[in-house]
Amino acid sequence: MTTKRLYYEDAYTTRFKARIVERVRVENDMAVATAVVLDKSYFYPTSGGQPFDKGFINDVPVVDVTIREKDGALLHWISKGDIWSDDIVADVDWARRFDHMQQHTGQHILSQAFIRVAGAETLSFHLSDETVTIDLEATAVQPEHIEQAEFLANQVIWQNRPVRIRAATTEEAQQLPLRKIPPGRDGRLRLIEIEGFDITACGGTHVSATGEVGLIKIVRLGRVGANLRVEFCCGRRALQDYRQKNSVVSRLTAVLTTGADEIVDSVTKLQEEVKETRRQIKRQQTSLIQLEADNLLAQGKKKNATTIITRVYADAESDANHLRTLASRLTKEGNVIALLGLAGEKCTLIFSRSAAAPGDMNQLIKPALQMLGSASGGGSPEMARGGGPAADVERVEQAVARAERLLLGQL
Ligand SMILES: [Zn+2]
Repeated sequence: MTTKRLYYEDAYTTRFKARIVERVRVENDMAVATAVVLDKSYFYPTSGGQPFDKGFINDVPVVDVTIREKDGALLHWISKGDIWSDDIVADVDWARRFDHMQQHTGQHILSQAFIRVAGAETLSFHLSDETVTIDLEATAVQPEHIEQAEFLANQVIWQNRPVRIRAATTEEAQQLPLRKIPPGRDGRLRLIEIEGFDITACGGTHVSATGEVGLIKIVRLGRVGANLRVEFCCGRRALQDYRQKNSVVSRLTAVLTTGADEIVDSVTKLQEEVKETRRQIKRQQTSLIQLEADNLLAQGKKKNATTIITRVYADAESDANHLRTLASRLTKEGNVIALLGLAGEKCTLIFSRSAAAPGDMNQLIKPALQMLGSASGGGSPEMARGGGPAADVERVEQAVARAERLLLGQL
């Protein structure tokens, strides 16, 4: 048995009495779902881009409402248990319903506004708990049309035009300026008319005068294939969006100690300053490392033609990155061998030599790492590195000194 859809004539009634005419149970391996069919209902089922109403039937939560294809019956899915009596009292969640009415009527207004300012038809509409979007033919819409359509839509709201529900046959509809004519059920169409502005065939729930939409604000534009997707919000959602953005702007003006108009300039300037500061730091680091390398080269031990540099750092003075840069700077040219270490929670050794220097760093680092209790590490004859567990400066110095003794014996 089908359900008489009371919301077609009246979107404002939320409490009603009805009779359960059928109970539906669907079982799969995961769960059992239960729905009831009523003789008449104000609950809106998911359809036409608009989501279902929530609410209660005899205090049992309604969690979904769908249309049964074969006979058009409305299935009111309930969260738990069953509803035992056939005579029921139901309540539709008004906050959710009114939100859908505001967004959906706002969509009718905005769609017509885009036709008026840009000649752009709405190709699809989608309403969810988070977003409302329409897709337009992108080629027709120029950048200036966005604010024009938004402004026109808000003017229609301020004019508080009546929104009427009309019934018409498909033939009658062809005589009316409809945005598009869908196939009617049994040749009958339900038309939503915004007085003097728009007339559309639609099965959704709408406010009774445009003023109730409150406000329409376009919040985002995007391309979807060849179409332009316009995201907007109406009524309470627009207020929430304004609140959230106002709060962000207020916090930014406080943090940046600037006016709202200057936030973008202020952030752009800050970004440039950060970039310049990074460049300065990089330059200073480069000259510091060079100075350190020159110092170490001046203090290095000489044997035959080779300069040997040993240096162990505490972890407060250096890190693995610094050690690596220093090693490559020291051995970039000449006849130099650098045996560098880093103490701390994890110790590190980097042994490196210039291309002209003798010795095999890969062989040399192994006994030193062994002394530090580490078996991992290695590299090439020119450059080897390895790490071990925690070790203090003295311990790492002993390991480096052992490598130095071995090296001196070979030179
Ligand atoms: Zn509608």
